Amino acid sequence: MDIKKICIIGAGQMGNGIAHAMSLAGYDVVLNDINQQSLDAAMTAMHKNMARQASRGKISESDVTEAIARITTTLSLADIGATDLVIEAATERETVKRAIFEDLQPHLLPHTILTSNTSAISITRLASRTDRPERFMGFHFMNPVPVMQLVELIRGIATDEETFASCRTVVEKLGKTAASAEDFPAFIVNRILMPMINEAVYTLYEGVGSVKSIDLSMKLGANHPMGPLELADFIGLDTCLAIMNVLHEGLADTKYRPCPLLTKYVEAGWLGRKTQRGFYDYRGEEPVPTR
Ligand code: NAD
Repeated sequence: MDIKKICIIGAGQMGNGIAHAMSLAGYDVVLNDINQQSLDAAMTAMHKNMARQASRGKISESDVTEAIARITTTLSLADIGATDLVIEAATERETVKRAIFEDLQPHLLPHTILTSNTSAISITRLASRTDRPERFMGFHFMNPVPVMQLVELIRGIATDEETFASCRTVVEKLGKTAASAEDFPAFIVNRILMPMINEAVYTLYEGVGSVKSIDLSMKLGANHPMGPLELADFIGLDTCLAIMNVLHEGLADTKYRPCPLLTKYVEAGWLGRKTQRGFYDYRGEEPVPTR
């Protein structure tokens, strides 16, 4: 199937990154959110990020103008129009995602493919609540989308081959690389990455090291480009906690229990960079560790 028009639901850090990459690759994009501020912030972020790419000579000024012109924003799912592909990138909560797919149903064309950018939630379960489980799959981008090369493609139990092939073609058109993952909690990347981040939070919680020494140890000692706590702030601590809960519940193994300190940060609303405070405080010139 030839995909031309894409609807992205959720204009947070992932939604705006996906819209950025899709519009630069030539797709018409409709970006939806329940919050006008998120839509405005997404347009500002895309302008800024594309301008930075242009200033480095990676794209031209006209690429930026044309890509931005291909994006429209809306608060209403009824406005999504004749969309070939939907990528849901709203808050990582199953009830939120389920409600979105239910509300979307009356506005879809028969051929529209539904996908979720979920980091961990069962694709099969999300698909089973729609009228088209065979045309439903996981389309999992990495953060920041314009920079990261990988996209995980996840088949639900019912996903048909044509749907999978159509999504793989989109990944190729973006110039990215697809890895195929089976539909088990958190798929591949987060199944491995999140327990490491959670263990870093336990290391902090038990007083083995400070925020600074934990991040420094993993950067200089394991050659990671970012420390695990810095990375958790970048991903969003609410998203990290949601993924650990899915692993814990979905695999019923105590080794995945979320660290109580991670829960405490989320309860405080200290969600990382997006709220300006997490394991670091970002309100000043330089990030300052909060422990
Ligand atoms: P975010 O908190 O930055 O953005 C979520 C957006 O969803 C917000 O703008 C919010 O207003 C919007 N939203 C909430 N309910 C909605 C609804 N009913 N309809 C439309 N919009 C709604 O979150 P994010 O980091 O962009 O994550 C979004 C999704 O991407 C999650 O499923 C997450 O697991 C996944 N993901 C995140 C990362 C990451 O590093 N943050 C990486 C890969 C995948």
